[in-house]
Amino acid sequence: MDHVIFPKVPMLAQNFCAGEWSTGGGERREILSPLNGQVIGHYHESNPSDILHGVEQAERAFQGWRQTPLKDRCQIMFRLRDILLRDRDKMIATISLENGKTQSEALGSFMKGIEVLEYALSLQNIDDLARLQVSRGVYCEYRREPLGVVAGITPFNFPAMVPMWTIPIALTLGNCYLWKPSEKTPLTAKFIAQAAVEAGLPAGVFSIIQGGRETVEAIIDHPLVAAIAFVGSSRVAKAVYQRGTNLGKRVLALGGAKNHILLLPDADGILAGIGIADSFTGCAGQRCMAASVLLAVGNCAPIIEKIKERAAAMVLGESMGAIISSEQRDFLNAAIARAEAAGAKILLDGRRPQAPQGMQGGYWLAPTILDHVPAAGEAAQVELFGPILSIIRCQTISQAIAIENSSAYGNAAAVFTSNGALADKVVAALQAGMVGINIGVPVPREPFSFGGINASKFGHGDITGGASLDFWSNLKKVTTKWEQQKDHNWMS
Ligand code: NAD
Repeated sequence: MDHVIFPKVPMLAQNFCAGEWSTGGGERREILSPLNGQVIGHYHESNPSDILHGVEQAERAFQGWRQTPLKDRCQIMFRLRDILLRDRDKMIATISLENGKTQSEALGSFMKGIEVLEYALSLQNIDDLARLQVSRGVYCEYRREPLGVVAGITPFNFPAMVPMWTIPIALTLGNCYLWKPSEKTPLTAKFIAQAAVEAGLPAGVFSIIQGGRETVEAIIDHPLVAAIAFVGSSRVAKAVYQRGTNLGKRVLALGGAKNHILLLPDADGILAGIGIADSFTGCAGQRCMAASVLLAVGNCAPIIEKIKERAAAMVLGESMGAIISSEQRDFLNAAIARAEAAGAKILLDGRRPQAPQGMQGGYWLAPTILDHVPAAGEAAQVELFGPILSIIRCQTISQAIAIENSSAYGNAAAVFTSNGALADKVVAALQAGMVGINIGVPVPREPFSFGGINASKFGHGDITGGASLDFWSNLKKVTTKWEQQKDHNWMS
């Protein structure tokens, strides 16, 4: 990672409200880079008056933004896209610094965010609403109306992509958006706000409020905040969902994951070897779509060997990034030890990794494969969120499906096989919101929407694509009659 330039002067993550930057009134906190463990910046927690100010200014801006025609809002989104792409290198460098991703992973995730933005700006050309004559001279139509001030609360693992799942769609539909980035990765937000200003988004339409749990709770509780989209761990997703819905608010809260891959012996060895290894090691395993449990049915030894070879060849800092914090790295190391004590065999041990040159202070863990993992144990059941693959040996496909179905989560799952009819049967039986056939990271591309089931999602609908439109708007149903008809029926 020769290309990483650590900042000489610590960077500052600020609040952005009513078009102005300010420092929160709460405690000062340091931001460490997972790449070398050094301080790269700081931010201040927001206090209640910061949050009040942000929400009130957003509400004020809403009155004008809601009247702005959809096509005009889309023109701003066009410019936002162009500016973000123009400035992407700065943004990617910051994502990598504060999150620990490799530059190519940071770029890939950024481009997925752009894809959602492109979907949002295409809404001006999508006729998703109906107008029909329902009786003689009587017409019914749908109109989409914005909700008002809405909030997005995001996790550390994708500092730009996950926010971009919701910001462009919510804004394009006429809402004012308040973003609370992860306190572990609060720096990238600045570039999105700067681009929004340059694109011409009116002051107050888009705001950033830095902070942690207390800030989130104050945002949810504020009476003017109409809807909350949350992405993070299941424990917090559930708490946010319950808090918001108890107040009668609209909440969609995406949670954690424990994704299963069914591997059948007839699978293409190259497709499966690369697909599965890249899935559990990509983003250092810190993504909700990562393969976590491999259900190896029958004799899959040659393919498991290929997965191991590819995983063992990963170079930290080049093909794989760092773990977000020293606490999480220590947790992962301890989880590997506990799995071994519980009977798992360590096929590939990443615990004493070779850190990249000059980054010995970073939080590194190389790919780790645990074989013969007990199905009821921690490594098979708990979201570890690191580059660890737990293999469970299965005698039959039914046994593998039963294990997948018993998971508390339901984000993603996949099957690797060369038998199409069998793949279809397995897909029908898997209990996950996003399923892949011979794909290790089955992320739906726009306009297909993103979202899991079970403990991976609290609330209805998905967070991107067409399924998100109803979340960010109210459908008004308008029935019109202009003149009395001669031939009466019950409506006219
Ligand atoms: P997290 O739940 O710790 O934090 C997410 C957000 O919630 C942050 O902004 C944080 O400040 C806030 N927060 C933390 N504790 C809170 C509390 N008690 N009350 C209110 N707010 C609180 O998650 P993380 O560690 O940042 O991210 C990793 C998790 O996110 C993993 O579980 C991963 O699977 C999940 N994730 C899920 C998806 C998905 O699409 N389902 C996508 C990305 C990440």
